Amino acid sequence: MTETIPRPHGGVAGAGAVAAADPGNSLLLCAPMGIEARALRRGLRDSPNPPSVLRTGYGTTRAVRQAERLSHRPFGQLMIMGVGGGLTTDLRVGDLVVGTEVGAVTCPSAPLLAGELRRAGLAARTGRITTVDHLTRRPQRAALAADGALLVDMESAPLAAAADGRPVAVIRAVSDTPHHPLAGIVSGGLAALRSLRAAAPVAERWAAACGTRRVLLAGPRSFCAGVERAIEIVERVLQRQGAPVYVRKQIVHNTRVVGDLTRRGAVFVDELDQVPDGATVVFSAHGVSPAVRAEASRRGLAVIDATCPLVSKVHAEARRFAADGYTVALIGHAGHEEVEGTLGEAPGSTVLVQTAADVAALRPRDPERIAYLMQTTLSVDEAADVAGALRERFPSVRAPGSDDICYATTNRQAAVRAVAAESDLVLVAGSANSSNSVRLVETCERAGTPAHLIDGASDIQLDWLAGTSTIGLTAGASAPPAVVTEIISALSGLGGLSVSERTTTTESIRFGLPKEVRQ
Ligand code: SF4
Repeated sequence: MTETIPRPHGGVAGAGAVAAADPGNSLLLCAPMGIEARALRRGLRDSPNPPSVLRTGYGTTRAVRQAERLSHRPFGQLMIMGVGGGLTTDLRVGDLVVGTEVGAVTCPSAPLLAGELRRAGLAARTGRITTVDHLTRRPQRAALAADGALLVDMESAPLAAAADGRPVAVIRAVSDTPHHPLAGIVSGGLAALRSLRAAAPVAERWAAACGTRRVLLAGPRSFCAGVERAIEIVERVLQRQGAPVYVRKQIVHNTRVVGDLTRRGAVFVDELDQVPDGATVVFSAHGVSPAVRAEASRRGLAVIDATCPLVSKVHAEARRFAADGYTVALIGHAGHEEVEGTLGEAPGSTVLVQTAADVAALRPRDPERIAYLMQTTLSVDEAADVAGALRERFPSVRAPGSDDICYATTNRQAAVRAVAAESDLVLVAGSANSSNSVRLVETCERAGTPAHLIDGASDIQLDWLAGTSTIGLTAGASAPPAVVTEIISALSGLGGLSVSERTTTTESIRFGLPKEVRQ
């Protein structure tokens, strides 16, 4: 996939472009009314090189005329900022609406801007902005809202069209709402103008992040077989039994997945005492200890086990080694649900080791009978270091029959390493509590490439992007593929974007479903 934006226009510097060396590569800020333009200039007071702020005139007729003039004016990026009428009842005066579609123009970078505005402490939403050629009254506003618009104004659509393929964004501050239709520019407008002023520096950061770049996708990325299976189990139970369906812990460590299933009727609980007697409970992909299974049985709960088969394999190894009289050194991270579950299989015989220093402190019952196991989502390199320390101190140490770090973790780390080598920055889609996603960030950092963990496009900080020409992109095993699509779309709004993939291996593993949810 390759998009190309037209080269910035050449020509003379626009009014107000104080020190911009090349107006053809610079931000042009359009504000319909004088008070809006003044609010923006005040907001940019501390900027060493403020962008041009152009007062374009009130109303659709002036906007159309100004759009025609803009076709002869050099600029690199176009942003339209002003006040507007909120159309939905959940909007408040002073809230900011970042346009995803403005008339016929799409603004893909809207989620990036909205996220940056929220981090600046402003209330910001993304949505459709519609432009009309007259003042609107309540019935028409209700009709516009019913049609899916979030905000109405009288200028944005023709002005946005003047971007003509260059990066464009629209930010409107709500000056009146269905609850306060008469607030208008005089009273409600003051709050809106304050928000506009505070948003102006964000417009500058957006422009600095704009540019032509390429995205390198790591392959494989995103969902693994264990995560797909766990999600499908909850979906099937919801289908069969209806809501609510209780799930102990997050089914997989991803806020999008959990949010989506919650909306569909799943209830995520920390412990079984939050599940009503006799109800059905799903155990998460990370596994549980035998003590949790026993408690579920004592309570008469119907259990459906979504533990990943590769986690179950580690549990079985722990039981086997312990039964054979071995001390089991479990290489993993304290507090992770998977580790707690595995430790619970043989608590008297298993010791958690996180580092080589932990290995040095080990006091096994019999140094000749020691074995090690690993959490499935560890960093391959770090785990190898700890396993090496174990082998050095206990030459007869027993290793697991096959690798405990699962295929999905290993493959995603190898793939992101390949991408990091070519990238200025790597974005890792995944949630903060996702072990395998965090390991992907660490893998990049160890390779010398900065990397950031993001739940979605709105988490991308604009200053990460400034000056980058190649961005690596991957997703942890629990992050949905749709998040990757969303991130690419948002980046495409910052300028021409080419997307290619570096595939280090392909995956075809699938796991069967438990009998309770099979057809
Ligand atoms: S990351 Fe590995 S262990 Fe975890 S659910 Fe996926 S396949 Fe299973």
